[in-house]
Amino acid sequence: MEEKVLNRGQQKVRSNVLDAGLCTGCGACINLCPYYQSYRGKTAVLFPCTIDEGRCFAYCPKIEVDLEELSQRLFGKPYDGSPLGSCQSVLMSKATDIIKGSKPQAGGTVSALMYYALKKGFIDGAVLMDRQGLLPVPHFVGDANDVLACSQSKYTAAPALAEVNQAVKDGYKNIGMVGTPCQVLSAAKMRMNPLMKEDFIDPFGLIIGLFCTWAIDYRLFEPFVIKKIDIDQIEKIDIPPPPAEILQIFGKNGEKLEIPLSEIRELVPKGCSYCVDMTSEFSDLSVGVMEGRPDMNTLIIRTDRARRLVYGAQEEGYLQVSEMPEENLEHLMWAAGNKKRKGLIKACDEGLINATEETNSYLKIRQDILNKLIA
Ligand SMILES: Cc1cc2nc3c(=O)[nH]c(=O)nc-3n(C[C@H](O)[C@H](O)[C@H](O)COP(=O)(O)OP(=O)(O)OC[C@H]3O[C@@H](n4cnc5c(N)ncnc54)[C@H](O)[C@@H]3O)c2cc1C
Ligand code: SF4
Ligand code: SF4
Repeated sequence: MEEKVLNRGQQKVRSNVLDAGLCTGCGACINLCPYYQSYRGKTAVLFPCTIDEGRCFAYCPKIEVDLEELSQRLFGKPYDGSPLGSCQSVLMSKATDIIKGSKPQAGGTVSALMYYALKKGFIDGAVLMDRQGLLPVPHFVGDANDVLACSQSKYTAAPALAEVNQAVKDGYKNIGMVGTPCQVLSAAKMRMNPLMKEDFIDPFGLIIGLFCTWAIDYRLFEPFVIKKIDIDQIEKIDIPPPPAEILQIFGKNGEKLEIPLSEIRELVPKGCSYCVDMTSEFSDLSVGVMEGRPDMNTLIIRTDRARRLVYGAQEEGYLQVSEMPEENLEHLMWAAGNKKRKGLIKACDEGLINATEETNSYLKIRQDILNKLIA
């Protein structure tokens, strides 16, 4: 009998993701083999590969993402399309000043939790995002004292998973990572043991997801910004929550630049417009900026290990945690639901959901849930 060709390798990643403009440079296909390279915001294929079933396909968050399977395997329940995903609790939080010299993006929850997780041995190391000028540079940190150097948001799409793949190759088995929802999705696909290896070990000890509405394409952002400010002198970049509608760039010499978001949205990769996840639904815990309170974070606890970490950090004085006001929760649900609906409609219109095995889908989702979400 003729053996079935799976066709779940580089050729499909090229046709369905890279050539289709869906790639958001997460880095999950990098550092697995010599054939892919990430260079200054571009994911490139250096040589063709004809392997029938590859890790690039298996880990890519833009092809064959089975939401039902992920939800069942990670949370033990069906994917129901709720706006924030599977949650144990939704809270507000803020780092305390126990961590000296911290200059976080908002409340510093992510840095405080990663610092605490490393210090207490919850994880052996963490993949964080550093920056050289405007270029996001993933960085593996093994010492809690190095966490703060990587704080703050780099609003450009970034190859975090390339560094995770390197850490796995280096033998780490209990890795922490911070990522945007698409980066977290590739991590979640990795955790499924998609190639059914007998010696598989889930390499993640903690996944902290960031909220994300869209990211910026570094290849467009750098030439755009370089005309306005010396990029080596940038101290911080911020996108304050609505209704501000601006991106702010703060210079080391006190300079402040404000750019309307209407100009920045032109620099967003096409892949973001299909994205259905605002809050990193497949993480252990998710963190965003609290609307109306730029010094605080929204914090979603999803798993038992995240709950232990958060309340441990609170008890030992690293984190302040409080209830989330009802009106903030309602608005968060609305915003996340709106992103999900828009992404699903666009992907549906282009035949990218529940497609045939031959053409491959971007997303697989139960039809009754899909119908409910786009009704
Ligand atoms: C592209 C992008 C879009 C975002 N959009 C929203 C949004 O729409 N709404 C919202 O509420 N919040 C959004 N955020 C999250 C928000 O900006 C803060 O990162 C988050 O609230 C955590 O705040 P903090 O004070 O705890 O961060 P910090 O303590 O300063 O820590 C930030 C952490 O994020 C990591 N990081 C930074 N940039 C990246 C990146 N590109 N990829 C992976 N890791 C990174 C850093 O290494 C650091 O560990 C976005 C973040 C990014 C990177
Ligand atoms: S989305 Fe990630 S895994 Fe998929 S092609 Fe782009 S960089 Fe590679
Ligand atoms: S909008 Fe989605 S695809 Fe785009 S960077 Fe954010 S998580 Fe990734």
